[in-house]
Amino acid sequence: MRIGIDCDGVLRDFITDVIDLIKEKHPEHADKILTPESWDWEDWLPFWTDDEAEKFIFEDNYERLFGSDANIIPSVLEDWPILKAWAIRNGHELVLVSAQREHCKELTTAWLQRWGIVFDEMHYTKEKWSIDVDVLIDDSPEKLDIFKERSVAYGQPICMRQTWNTESQKKYMTIDRLSDLMTRVFG
Ligand SMILES: [Mg+2]
Repeated sequence: MRIGIDCDGVLRDFITDVIDLIKEKHPEHADKILTPESWDWEDWLPFWTDDEAEKFIFEDNYERLFGSDANIIPSVLEDWPILKAWAIRNGHELVLVSAQREHCKELTTAWLQRWGIVFDEMHYTKEKWSIDVDVLIDDSPEKLDIFKERSVAYGQPICMRQTWNTESQKKYMTIDRLSDLMTRVFG
């Protein structure tokens, strides 16, 4: 099997880092940050417009949020070596399928290297459905839906549980951590 894996929200603890960085740089907004329950910044960062949030994240602080200082989801640190060994034993390929913006691609590749996360293949594309994988593990409701509709390999979307994808959890097989793949998806 070819197993597609997203980066932000699946491996990298991106949203937690965004929240922590806002608290650090804008303490005046700290108590106004809501629980992220949607993909729209304005829904849970109500003190900023969409453009202001985009500027903070993707212009002013992208090196901090996507570079070597970015945090890994704690369970990934534990699960990755186990998943990798399992994939090798069973002849599965681990394929990165990540929709990074142009200026975040190199940083992301370096970040993955820093944490020892080595894929058999890496793809940076917004059109995740165009990558030939049998399953796609992702946290984005939109990416999961489009993959379900259009996957070139008729692949299966698998939701990584997060507060912002509760609707997807009702529609798709959902995992809490990467090692669940070995038991719940391929068990
Ligand atoms: Mg993601």
